[in-house]
Amino acid sequence: MRILIVEDEPRIATDLAEAVNGAGYVAEVASNGEEAWFKGGTEAYSAIILDLGLPVMDGLTILKRWRQEGVATPVLVLTARGAWTDRVDGIDAGADDYLPKPFRMEELMARLRALIRRAAGRAEPAISIGPVRLDPRSRLVTVEGVPANLTPLEFRLLNFLFHHRGRVVSQAELSENLYSHDSERESNAIEALVGRLRRKLKADIIETRRGFGYIVQPPEP
Ligand code: CA
Repeated sequence: MRILIVEDEPRIATDLAEAVNGAGYVAEVASNGEEAWFKGGTEAYSAIILDLGLPVMDGLTILKRWRQEGVATPVLVLTARGAWTDRVDGIDAGADDYLPKPFRMEELMARLRALIRRAAGRAEPAISIGPVRLDPRSRLVTVEGVPANLTPLEFRLLNFLFHHRGRVVSQAELSENLYSHDSERESNAIEALVGRLRRKLKADIIETRRGFGYIVQPPEP
């Protein structure tokens, strides 16, 4: 089971990684917000430990974006000592648990285990639309049972559309959720990405609504 550790202070990150590995999980560390956001949204983790004060993109923004994109990975937020507003904001943004700094490693590991246990009981079902099946937990997309080799960006886009199935999603909304910098947000980039995705899926499930955006229809009840 892989755990993503998002922490910009090298000493704390190292201690966390040691504890996580020592408990039999596989630790991965992201030290800035953008890297964290991207990894958490495109790779499958059993849980994420998220520090709020981060360079490039702060923890709360990342968490809100993940939840908006349909990323349901359990998140344990690390807050600054005494900053109770951080805890409220964190829970509002979709945190599953929080721990104020400085913390005892034993307590953090106990909370992490509890979080993973609870998440295991909370089934996050795969979504099937036509021949395409998307499993949010394993980040795997198959077409008629055959894995479609999607890039992380293609997966993000499809995951967003599947998560918001039944409604039209505009190009602006997609680029806001797919790219972290304004410079990357060009509408034709989304168009090209959708084109590549359609070719890989070989199924006509992403409909274009000219001038409005894209829609994936929910499966027949
Ligand atoms: Ca920090």
